[in-house]
Amino acid sequence: MKILIIGAGAAGSVVAKKCAMNSEIFQDIHLASRTLSKCDAIKEDIKAKQGKNIHTYKLDADDVSETTQLLKEIQPDLVINMALPYQDLHIMDACLEAGCHYMDTANYEPIDVAKFEYHWQWAYQDKFKEAGLMAILGCGFDPGQTNIYCAYAQKNLFDEIHEIDIIDCNAGDHGKAFATNFNPEINLREVTQRGKYWENGQWIETEPLEFRKMINFPEVGEKAGYLLYHEELESLVQNIKGLKRIRFWMTFGDEYIKHMEVLQNIGMTRIDPVIHNGVEIVPIQFLKTLLPEPSSLAEDYTGKTSIGCIMTGIKDGKEKTILIYNVCDHAQTHAEVQAQAVSYTTGVPPVTGAIMLAKGLWNMEPGVWNVEQLDPDPFMDEVAKQGLPWHITELDSGLGALTERRTAFKYKDKAA
Ligand code: NDP
Repeated sequence: MKILIIGAGAAGSVVAKKCAMNSEIFQDIHLASRTLSKCDAIKEDIKAKQGKNIHTYKLDADDVSETTQLLKEIQPDLVINMALPYQDLHIMDACLEAGCHYMDTANYEPIDVAKFEYHWQWAYQDKFKEAGLMAILGCGFDPGQTNIYCAYAQKNLFDEIHEIDIIDCNAGDHGKAFATNFNPEINLREVTQRGKYWENGQWIETEPLEFRKMINFPEVGEKAGYLLYHEELESLVQNIKGLKRIRFWMTFGDEYIKHMEVLQNIGMTRIDPVIHNGVEIVPIQFLKTLLPEPSSLAEDYTGKTSIGCIMTGIKDGKEKTILIYNVCDHAQTHAEVQAQAVSYTTGVPPVTGAIMLAKGLWNMEPGVWNVEQLDPDPFMDEVAKQGLPWHITELDSGLGALTERRTAFKYKDKAA
């Protein structure tokens, strides 16, 4: 397969390196990004450690004609978009023009509105069908592997799934007072927005980080998870039959919340332009410049991520609750591909998805697909081999009702 990866950041570098490790499938690897030196650093690393050559390019993926031209020149079978959600539609347009399959790990978000929804990308359904091409959306870890855990459970473990809680914990320590594990701008936009979950056919909104719950995460123990809106809820509501409730929980340390609260309160997370010394700047973009790049955190990172889905449903007339999860160790991922575990868990699933396409193991129907619409079984087999083994354990019960409430963006917790 000839592959083009767009985006040479923390997760893009994992994709490039893992593709190179699977050179019997990816015979021809191309990497393009806004900053050529970052592509070249990854190329050098692959050359030094694996003795393989990849091709690199400078590209502004917001420029559809520049991207189309590059795609026509390279003619990749598949483009993996590892840039930012702002580029999704531009890269999809270029794929249609040049006749390439498309895959990403985060849904489209307009730069001037912190709102991530699938409708912009789902609107490409007819165009991709007519072009005979596939667009595979949200093939990272969450969204991505978590959606596939749900699809696997629906296919193999339940007759009907009623409740899903996606639980995401990074119990690692990067040694910095404040840093984000993936692109700071996208991370802070996600965490500071209002929360939302789905119950009995309705979306219910919450204040940002209003609800928290102590969750027992495999291998890392009890941590406080906060209810967030996350994009996979939108597609899973449509694709999991019989669903009555779905929520998403992510852990944050007190230090992270303290910094975020201050940044929010003083306007540093604003996404609208302000005039500073006669020059227009966007505070969150300036903040991103000041914060550590997610790829720079890898070297001294210790601890593990523990991410999975708790699902309650019916099998053969009986109710049961299971947890499907993966645990990933920051030091091990650094040893393997010089990346921290958040970048690794984001980068391995799209490589696995690309292997599914290369081997014809996924539904090869043209159109726009969320990953839970594709066959989970071969993906689950392959992703474990690629470095993200998964486990299933039976639980006595699910997470239950919302109980502990905190006042939004106040550091001190206040029980409900
Ligand atoms: P980084 O900021 O490290 O990397 C993003 C890369 O995209 C950078 O190299 C950046 O270039 C490049 N880029 C940005 N704009 C353009 C453009 N217009 N044209 C070309 N290249 C561009 O972020 P991460 O690697 O941490 O995250 C990458 C993606 O993965 C994000 O979309 C994020 O939302 C998603 N993600 C998904 C997860 C999942 O589980 N599904 C989890 C975590 C992240 P430059 O270096 O010049 O800034």
